[in-house]
Amino acid sequence: MLDLPNLPYAYDALEPVISKKIMELHHDKHHAAYVAKANAALEGTEWADKSIEEILKNLSKLPKDKQTAVRNNGGGHANHSLFWKIMRTPQEDNKPSGAVRSKLEETFGSFEKFKTQLSETATGQFGSGWGWLVKKVDGDLTIYSLPNQDSPILTGDMPIVGIDVWEHAYYLDYLNDRAAYIEKWWHVVNWDEVEKRL
Ligand code: MN
Repeated sequence: MLDLPNLPYAYDALEPVISKKIMELHHDKHHAAYVAKANAALEGTEWADKSIEEILKNLSKLPKDKQTAVRNNGGGHANHSLFWKIMRTPQEDNKPSGAVRSKLEETFGSFEKFKTQLSETATGQFGSGWGWLVKKVDGDLTIYSLPNQDSPILTGDMPIVGIDVWEHAYYLDYLNDRAAYIEKWWHVVNWDEVEKRL
């Protein structure tokens, strides 16, 4: 059984970047529904007690008629579980330091270039999906977007930073202005958590 994790902060902790109302709906309705539907799909299979990471890594081994439901809803569970953890109360000057900063500079040239590349990739994702910073098996970092709830874990990459660009993540606060949401979102990135994942 997959469990819906509690938010590691109050529903209003990310205001004014992300409103309490969005957090309530996003966590209690959207994420909860992904967990319920993934559990329904996995029930009665040998995968019902496995971790979501193990399940997604081995998606092709699941019963054929369960794979789409698990890819979408299990992916949604993995993605949102990460998303809550890599955010925190907004900070005006929110930049990484130490090892994270060095690694981003080494890979992308500068922190600003990294931020621009991930922002543009997430903004440009056609329709619903996520912008990702991932670690490849060889340890290199890379940026891409994936549609729907597809998890980087499906292709063996480790998700480090993910920004949810489904309309449910921002529409109540930013209407159709995805770029404005992403620009503000950088203020809530929890760089301490990112460092742990790196
Ligand atoms: Mn979402």
